Amino acid sequence: MLKVLTVENIEKYYGNKGNVSKAIDRISFDVKKGDFVGIMGPSGSGKTTLLNCISTIDKITTGSILISGKDITTLKRSELEKFRRDELGFIFQDFNLLDTLTAAENIALALTIQGRQAEEIPQIVSEVADKLDITDILEKFPYEVSGGQKQRIASARAIVTNPSLVLADEPTGALDSKSARMLLDSFEQLNAELKTTILMVTHDAFTASYAKRILFIKDGKVFNELYRGKDTRKEFFNRIIEVVTLLGGDTNNVF
Ligand code: ADP
Repeated sequence: MLKVLTVENIEKYYGNKGNVSKAIDRISFDVKKGDFVGIMGPSGSGKTTLLNCISTIDKITTGSILISGKDITTLKRSELEKFRRDELGFIFQDFNLLDTLTAAENIALALTIQGRQAEEIPQIVSEVADKLDITDILEKFPYEVSGGQKQRIASARAIVTNPSLVLADEPTGALDSKSARMLLDSFEQLNAELKTTILMVTHDAFTASYAKRILFIKDGKVFNELYRGKDTRKEFFNRIIEVVTLLGGDTNNVF
């Protein structure tokens, strides 16, 4: 199957001579089209650094990262912006919606920036809103909706451009458990129906249990990998908890 992401033997150092810390220590993995991958690991293990390097916000020290066959480490600054806009979708813990725009305008903005024709935008927004069950709040401003609704608006914005890869950083981190469940159901549906490829960093075993595969990171290395296979979500959750325990985290869902 088509590889959307190839991370090859990457390393990331911070600091300079005499005071270097290694945030990523030779990580390699692939993500295929339609995959839903979770990244877990204790605080300080390198998850954010990894996500920032894949999202082209930060630069790796050595190795290569290919997204849709393109080595992003060789892209020029001027090319990166277009690359991010066309190939990547972002979902952040704190939503990052523009407060002065309605939900529909927040979603449409991603298309406008891409240079899509104004006439075709409402139809595209309406289709994606339907997928995320936010049709009835499209004219509302972010402050008028709940956290869970905000995150579904942000998810619509992330996928409306049909990116190769959606990067989600603790997407349920600011949500109550019911809203988290609804959001994750949406992710599962987008992944199953639209083959949306998702890479999601999370601390939370329940959130991770929606993924098809999980990479556990410790001290900048891949420590373990789990595939959901034919497990129910509950069974997968229990296996995740076992690894979390092995990694030395507490079993209260959280590292
Ligand atoms: P996580 O997201 O898993 O909590 P991070 O990627 O934030 O981990 O951090 C990995 C390691 O890299 C940590 O030791 C952290 O202190 C270090 N680190 C992260 N960002 C920087 C930075 N900008 N400058 C120096 N060290 C950093």
